[in-house]
Amino acid sequence: MVGVAPQEAENGPAGGPQHLTTLDMGGGPTDPEVQEALPRAQRGPDGKYLNPLPTSVAGPGMLPRMIRRYITEGRRGEPEHPLGPFRTDPAVLQTPAATGLRVTWLGHSSLLLEVDGIRILTDPAWGERASFVRFMGPRRFYPTPLPIADLPPLDAVLLSHDHYDHLDQGTIEQIAGTGVAIVCSLGMRPILERWGVPPARITELSWGDSAQVGACTLTATPARHFSGRSLWNRNETLWSSFVIRGPRHNIFFGADSGPFPGFQQIGRLFGPFDLTMLEIGAYDDDWPDIHMGPDRAAEAHLALGGRLLLPIHWGTFNLAFHPWREPVERLLGAARAQGIRLLLPRPGVPMDVTGDEHHSNWWKA
Ligand SMILES: [Zn+2]
Repeated sequence: MVGVAPQEAENGPAGGPQHLTTLDMGGGPTDPEVQEALPRAQRGPDGKYLNPLPTSVAGPGMLPRMIRRYITEGRRGEPEHPLGPFRTDPAVLQTPAATGLRVTWLGHSSLLLEVDGIRILTDPAWGERASFVRFMGPRRFYPTPLPIADLPPLDAVLLSHDHYDHLDQGTIEQIAGTGVAIVCSLGMRPILERWGVPPARITELSWGDSAQVGACTLTATPARHFSGRSLWNRNETLWSSFVIRGPRHNIFFGADSGPFPGFQQIGRLFGPFDLTMLEIGAYDDDWPDIHMGPDRAAEAHLALGGRLLLPIHWGTFNLAFHPWREPVERLLGAARAQGIRLLLPRPGVPMDVTGDEHHSNWWKA
């Protein structure tokens, strides 16, 4: 069984997230300056969410080309031999973070964030495959380092968008049973309710909206990406990045995003950041708008005003055609050239964020 945050244990899951300010989505802006400066999430005439700027997504028209490339290049993205095992020591998570900020990268975009006394789990995808079916689709390179049963009590689960490698039905169904609060992008509520998340535990955010979790403020910020769990429901739910600001620390979870000027804007409004977590994998010249890759991630980190960069969305699933180590190897080059400090932990190892670099080199094994 997964632990439940003490506040929730007292209030009971049915009592609603007492420590979480649920915003009225129909209400006014929470912070006028933020609301004015950030692009609002908008929908087109067909009701589908739009990106902050024109964005090309590899659509069904690309399918024949993708199949050809998959046959010739598909295996390049997989490790030559099994990786791991990786294991989180759950005892470490029972002690408070020495610096107040500790981060455990659990692979891909799943992170356990301990920020000024609260615990947030991002985009948990514990399933063996990031796919709409169990028998095919991208398979994990290694089992998750931290079983759900070993998770410490959580204050919130943060869901950036509905893609399979970020929103996994089996994982959510297991976590939902704990009554943990879920903060997600606009439009994801129906999916979560279908999977058994109590309605009172869900807080949907549009870009610029915030939710309070303990002493931390979570603000949804724009990203340049897309959504959909099939070819038929594209962009019916929103995609976001998030700023997490506590009394002592300020961090940025970039989730999935292509390059866009929004990083500069987010940096100006919310930065500087003690830590940025930005995607570096699954890039390709066939879809340059929706994933940025290591070089653009380095630029985004600087635009955001980040002090330390922890790369995510790599080394876990084969979602593109690049060799699986290429994202981190290219990031190391870009970081060296631009003086960017990197946090490169072994999957599952809790890292106290001190501002110092850490290069575990786990991918070289
Ligand atoms: Zn995605």
